[in-house]
Amino acid sequence: MDSNNIHLPEGKRLTKPKQLILEYFNNNRDHVTADGLFRKIKPLLPQVGIATVYRNLNDLASLGILKQLSYPGMPAFYELADRQHAHFYCEYCHQIYDITALDKAIEANRAYEGHYIKEVNVELRGLCKKCMVDYFG
Ligand SMILES: [Zn+2]
Ligand SMILES: [Zn+2]
Repeated sequence: MDSNNIHLPEGKRLTKPKQLILEYFNNNRDHVTADGLFRKIKPLLPQVGIATVYRNLNDLASLGILKQLSYPGMPAFYELADRQHAHFYCEYCHQIYDITALDKAIEANRAYEGHYIKEVNVELRGLCKKCMVDYFG
């Protein structure tokens, strides 16, 4: 997906911070916190503040362009909201992995027994393979 695929609603100005945030998500299919994103954007736009990043993330989430992921005791993570998928959350390193193995099942059940499924939140928790090596050899 290139950065031209996201269109803001009319009247929403594409400010420089917003543009950089959208570019980041277009180029990186990952899950980041406001702080993590701030550290990526700061070198490209030295005058940007953390409050601006927070505001733009909330703004893009309320427009449905980004999705906010919440885990107890952790700051919110954000990702592009362009496709429904399951997540695997590592309780040790707090990394979030997309579980694509469930994509087909999610799509296949979008109209389940006559219901229309609008949103899917499947959350798996455990220990990622990196942490398994790091902590348990
Ligand atoms: Zn881990
Ligand atoms: Zn995801």
